[in-house]
Amino acid sequence: MPKVHNFSPGPSILPRQAMEAGSRACLEFQGTGLSLLEMSHRGKEFIGVMNEAISLVKELLGVPAGYSVAFLQGGASLQFAMVPFNLTDEGDTAAYTDTGTWASKALKEAKMFCNVKVLASSKEANYNFIPKNYEIPKDVRYFHVTSNNTIYGTQLQTFPNSPVPLIADMSSDIFSRPVDVSKFGLIYAGAQKNMGIAGTTLVIVKDELLGKVKRKIPSMLDYKLQIENESMYNTPPVFAVYMAMETLRWVKQQGGVAAMQKRNEEKARRLYAEIEANPLFKGTCAVEDRSRMNVTFVMHKPELEGAFNKAAEAAGLSGLKGHRSVGGFRASIYNAMDVDGIDALVTVMRDFAKANA
Ligand SMILES: *Cc1c(COP(=O)(O)O)cnc(C)c1O
Repeated sequence: MPKVHNFSPGPSILPRQAMEAGSRACLEFQGTGLSLLEMSHRGKEFIGVMNEAISLVKELLGVPAGYSVAFLQGGASLQFAMVPFNLTDEGDTAAYTDTGTWASKALKEAKMFCNVKVLASSKEANYNFIPKNYEIPKDVRYFHVTSNNTIYGTQLQTFPNSPVPLIADMSSDIFSRPVDVSKFGLIYAGAQKNMGIAGTTLVIVKDELLGKVKRKIPSMLDYKLQIENESMYNTPPVFAVYMAMETLRWVKQQGGVAAMQKRNEEKARRLYAEIEANPLFKGTCAVEDRSRMNVTFVMHKPELEGAFNKAAEAAGLSGLKGHRSVGGFRASIYNAMDVDGIDALVTVMRDFAKANA
């Protein structure tokens, strides 16, 4: 089969070696004669998987003492509700920035549980930049940001210093670069963009924030209970946790998140350079806010977009069609995308420009 370069926004590209390990684990796991999919999550084999996945998260991100790591279910979308549910009481206020569809869904959900102050929004500009001139109030329970806006192709290049606990949705850029976890109260990420498959959500939380609210929290939504039960209060999504573990093993073998950052910067540099140099294309976002994970671009002549999409597909490039709210194209170039994939896309763009000069 010819190689397909997978630019899908999510579920998305995974390291080949993680896929191969996952395939083997489905058939037979660790000499037990059983598939990983048909064994108890209370057995030593799966407990080993969960423990290794959690310790790789801690090691790769340098998670300091006083923080816990959990693998939960319900996607990043359930975190939109769990964060305000666990960290506020009715009548409390939480602050958000509105930087895209996911940020806007997060704050909409929070409004069901607390007051929400939107400090800044780029909605009027179809979210093509990250607002920066705002002050974070001291009398709110937390401040929520989306670190990478998957749909629009913008990314926080640095995180604000917050006087209140900083909460970040890192679904589409976790493990793509080093982060100083001690700056955050809570980080969450659905696995299926940059660290595995759909079905599990990573949560990293500062322990001292938990157990402070008066409202009753249903068990499955209670961070404290989930952490006390080592992410096994109920049956965990065993295969999704396994795939996260294998993906993180690969990140570690590549040299960790600093090496990922270096490679991701080079990939993004090559692709943005072509978008700027090529007479047919233009980027959609403010240059200083451009994402290194989701590269969004359109054509000066939109009537050529169908033909370019066909040329890209014929060259084995998959998943490039932009989200309907931006149009054009979006190249999702997560950790597992190699430089060859970028070069293949750049070549198609150049050839297309020559053919349509
Ligand atoms: C995809 C995505 C989500 C939604 O994730 P689900 O796991 O499908 O709930 C939330 N936030 C960001 C930044 C995303 O990219």
